[in-house]
Amino acid sequence: MLRFWQKSPDYKFTKRKVFGKLKPLLIVFNAVNKDMCYKFGYDSCHKFYTCLECKKRGHTVSARFIQHNGETTIELGRLQHICEPQKYIHENFFNASEEEKSIPPTNSSN
Ligand SMILES: [Zn+2]
Repeated sequence: MLRFWQKSPDYKFTKRKVFGKLKPLLIVFNAVNKDMCYKFGYDSCHKFYTCLECKKRGHTVSARFIQHNGETTIELGRLQHICEPQKYIHENFFNASEEEKSIPPTNSSN
């Protein structure tokens, strides 16, 4: 029997506003609890999406769009999240931009 890499997770593709520019935002829902999700931002250097919360902690969980049986789906990288899934709140990109601005600089002091 063929072993598939992973059942395609539910996802939603949207945009967020970061410093006045619209950036792709990929929301991947938790397989167990669909109220929870992970948010992926697009990494234009590597041409894939990375989990924003994991990235803040120096950990890269990747995701990319692939064609599978004629359907577009997403493939998740092998690394597991070290972040906790966040409650999914329907938000538009204007609200998301406020969230983005509140992120402190990346040089953590711990
Ligand atoms: Zn994560």
